Amino acid sequence: MRGQSERVGVNIAYSAYSSRRTGCQELFLTRPVDLDTLRQEFDGIRSRQDSTHTIVTPDSTLNQTQEYFERGSAPGCKAGLRFLVVTADGKLQPCSMQFKRYELHEQKRMVEEFTEHNQCDECYVAIRSNLDKTFPQILARTLRVTSPSIRATAGTAPAEIVRTEPRP
Ligand code: SF4
Repeated sequence: MRGQSERVGVNIAYSAYSSRRTGCQELFLTRPVDLDTLRQEFDGIRSRQDSTHTIVTPDSTLNQTQEYFERGSAPGCKAGLRFLVVTADGKLQPCSMQFKRYELHEQKRMVEEFTEHNQCDECYVAIRSNLDKTFPQILARTLRVTSPSIRATAGTAPAEIVRTEPRP
């Protein structure tokens, strides 16, 4: 896939399957044999990462995505604070799988009502895996810095906004 993406001049970013989105738990990787395959595939992806950055998903995201499948969950979601969804009709949602809506000026209320009490750990899709990180992790990814001392420092990051089509 990487060779093909280089030929057509596009990058590759990985996003974890979410049964919360599809409603199909059968496709979630839980069997040991599937998790072994996942580990091998991730090792293969890591071995193909290089200075061309054709694969834009950073190591930290691959590692945490692997943990998500091995654990079967990913607690600590900051939907609504680190990222949010702006719907086509101009409302805010914490994420594309949480449907309580807020007015555009109500992010603070969304954080107070949703994010601060959110126990959902059911996905690790790209928007979350890329943004539920410490500020140093995001900085390191951006600058391609790998210093452990930088990554060890806690911090905050700005929200990322995505737009969606209206729900039927
Ligand atoms: S883990 Fe977070 S981003 Fe994922 S479905 Fe739950 S609330 Fe939304």
